[in-house]
Amino acid sequence: MGLWSHLNVRRIECPKCHTISDHCVQFFFGGCNDDHLEIGHTLSWGPDGRGEPGHRLVVTDGLGSPCPGCGGPHAPPAVHTPNQFDIFIENDVITHARWATGEFDYDTKDEPDPESDYLVLDDYPPSVTR
Ligand SMILES: [Zn+2]
Repeated sequence: MGLWSHLNVRRIECPKCHTISDHCVQFFFGGCNDDHLEIGHTLSWGPDGRGEPGHRLVVTDGLGSPCPGCGGPHAPPAVHTPNQFDIFIENDVITHARWATGEFDYDTKDEPDPESDYLVLDDYPPSVTR
């Protein structure tokens, strides 16, 4: 059984209050050997991996912390969890992370791995600016 991986999200700017903060975001895709990764790193895969390697583009659910300035840039709890992140992975390379906008519904996913919340995408959504 895999654990999870951590992504260091550095100096992310809140789209609402413009506070800049660092976050350690847990996610459940790739090798999940308690590794600490950065944007630009390639996922390792092993026997405990979650999800599936080799997709051109996926977005996966991350658990970090809310914005320290405003408590979260998007909708509050009940509607949306303010410490949730979207992590984008292109060809197994982590390319982008942001506070989840609620745009992706990880609960209605159709992928086969119940241990991993991710969605396969054709392209980045227009809301992602990199
Ligand atoms: Zn904020």
